[in-house]
Amino acid sequence: MRILIVEDEADLRNGLLRLMREEGYAADGAADGVEGYRKALECDYDAIILDFMLPGMDGREYLRRLRHIKRTPVMMLTARNSVEDRVAGLDSGADDYLAKPFVQQELLARLRALIRRNYKTATGAINLGDVVIDTLARRVTKAGHDEAVTGREYSLLEFLAHRRGAVVTRSELYAHLFDENEDTLSNLLEVHVCNLRRKLGADLIKTRRGAGYIIEAADRDEPKV
Ligand code: CA
Repeated sequence: MRILIVEDEADLRNGLLRLMREEGYAADGAADGVEGYRKALECDYDAIILDFMLPGMDGREYLRRLRHIKRTPVMMLTARNSVEDRVAGLDSGADDYLAKPFVQQELLARLRALIRRNYKTATGAINLGDVVIDTLARRVTKAGHDEAVTGREYSLLEFLAHRRGAVVTRSELYAHLFDENEDTLSNLLEVHVCNLRRKLGADLIKTRRGAGYIIEAADRDEPKV
């Protein structure tokens, strides 16, 4: 999952970038609306965290332009007690908002909910045979037992699982799992796939030579909870 953070306050932007990376997301930052808009067009982010009061292009204008082109989920950050900003943002196409100052855990929970809604995983659990991904807690179990996976391995698994039944290309995976400052060494993706196969079973993630990777879909519906 790759997140764009558009926020002009450097401390807050850097804090959010650090938080996202700690949680296993790839994250890029932009310090004004114009740069943030350019990045949103260049890359298909899984979500955008957008400050409403921005130099260059404010949140309302940003959303107005973005929504002509893309459906990327947007979490808006507004000043406390600014009902007008929230209404304008939601009317312009924001999917959710948080008032500053906010608690990190709430931001992370709302972000997970946004991404889940976007992929229509309503229950929060993705059932892949004996492997179950709990997207609320970002946890993986195999045959009922917790499997320790790294943040990056989790992101790779969840990304493939949300698209199960479809081949995901290597370039798509690199675009969603690694941010602009990371070296995308050509073997890195294989290392993560290899680790996941070792932990969760050799057949879970299949390689399609020259195309990419796939988790097959057969009879693997959301559990009824
Ligand atoms: Ca601001």
